[in-house]
Amino acid sequence: MYDHCIIGGGIVGLAVAMALQERVPGAKVIVLEKEEELARHQTGHNSGVIHAGIYYAPGTLKAKLCREGAEATKQFCRENRIPFETCGKLLVATSKAEMRRMEALEDRAQCNGIDFTRLTIGQLRADEPNIAGMGALLVHSTGIVDYALVCRAMAKRIVDRGGEIIRGKEVLAILEHEKGVRVQTSAVVVEARRLVACAGLQSDRIALMAGMKIDHRIVPFRGEYYSLPASKAKVTQRLIYPIPDPDLPFLGIHLTRTIDGGMTVGPNAVLGFSREGYAKGSFSPRDVYSMATFSGFWKMARKNWRSAVLEFANSASRTRYLTECQKYCPSLTISDLQNPQAGIRAQAVMADGTLVHDFLFKQTDRMLHVCNAPSPAATSAIPIGRMIVDRLLDRDDGTSDAIPAQAEA
Ligand SMILES: Cc1cc2nc3c(=O)[nH]c(=O)nc-3n(C[C@H](O)[C@H](O)[C@H](O)COP(=O)(O)OP(=O)(O)OC[C@H]3O[C@@H](n4cnc5c(N)ncnc54)[C@H](O)[C@@H]3O)c2cc1C
Repeated sequence: MYDHCIIGGGIVGLAVAMALQERVPGAKVIVLEKEEELARHQTGHNSGVIHAGIYYAPGTLKAKLCREGAEATKQFCRENRIPFETCGKLLVATSKAEMRRMEALEDRAQCNGIDFTRLTIGQLRADEPNIAGMGALLVHSTGIVDYALVCRAMAKRIVDRGGEIIRGKEVLAILEHEKGVRVQTSAVVVEARRLVACAGLQSDRIALMAGMKIDHRIVPFRGEYYSLPASKAKVTQRLIYPIPDPDLPFLGIHLTRTIDGGMTVGPNAVLGFSREGYAKGSFSPRDVYSMATFSGFWKMARKNWRSAVLEFANSASRTRYLTECQKYCPSLTISDLQNPQAGIRAQAVMADGTLVHDFLFKQTDRMLHVCNAPSPAATSAIPIGRMIVDRLLDRDDGTSDAIPAQAEA
């Protein structure tokens, strides 16, 4: 009998396993991952940004965990000799409306205790000659890293401390009983006192499989990127972001330096027709059926059809995609958009059609399901793991919940 079984070898599952071993040295911990490699889904397909935490409503868990997570991630990288760089990022306003939104963001950054500098047009031009805008916020502590490498180091630490990680075995059935949880995989049956499910794009299916009552479903949103050619890899020193639309949980197409010396542009946020199909045009009848039979999907579609149509159009046409990027980086040309690739976000949508911006957790006596872990959950994974463990073990001790069932993020 294991003490704790964790489903999902993405960064959240691994951070939970590490936190369990930190809090209860010697605990028997097992991680089950369906892919042959760790970090094959969201964690291995993200922008690789260590976010500072500027965007999130002050006082919320997301704001707090992102700030703590950025520090914890950098510290973990130092301890494990994982390359990272604190290159800073610019949030660039390119219209009067964006200038107004930028001012609101400035207030938020102040409340969140984020170190930033406001740049005028002239200062922006001096800081980044290839970037055009009416003004910008420079966030000093934003960094870049390869989260797949972070996961590899986490896995090593877990195994060095006596934990087990089983790859290539999909969880097919879950039964919660009086003494624990029985987890059936494609090869073995695992018995554990507690289960933590961190299954990302499959998290609603895992929750339903475990008999949880949930009123949300995962809707996949593709984030499509291009790589810039080597000649443009130094077009900026910092990361360049647009001012985000506060109604949407996505940050807009940005220019991102990668830790291996490259530069990507993206991601957009276009509705996906396959949760794990990365090639353009991927279509999974099962995933489409799940969406089409969920009333919340249609309510969301009705509320957001304008931005959905725009995203589809920008996705279908490289020229339109380029126009978005040229708003702040006019020197980019169509031939710079090379090597298209994609990540897929697991976005929880409630039955009333609301997109869940927050982290969402559901718990029973012996299980905790991470139902929504959107960006910046890679940055925040280490404190998220500790918070989940506090909640699990506090429940063991009979003390009160450490986090609300649906935490504002
Ligand atoms: C395009 C994109 C850009 C992003 N950019 C950033 C960024 O720059 N910074 C940031 O902080 N965050 C970013 N994020 C968000 C971040 O990547 C995610 O929030 C984070 O990786 C979520 O981690 P996870 O472990 O919950 O999910 P995942 O990484 O998706 O891991 C879930 C795991 O569960 C496994 N699994 C599922 N079902 C089963 C089963 N039945 N049996 C066994 N295993 C199973 C999967 O195979 C998978 O490995 C981005 C996300 C995307 C998609």
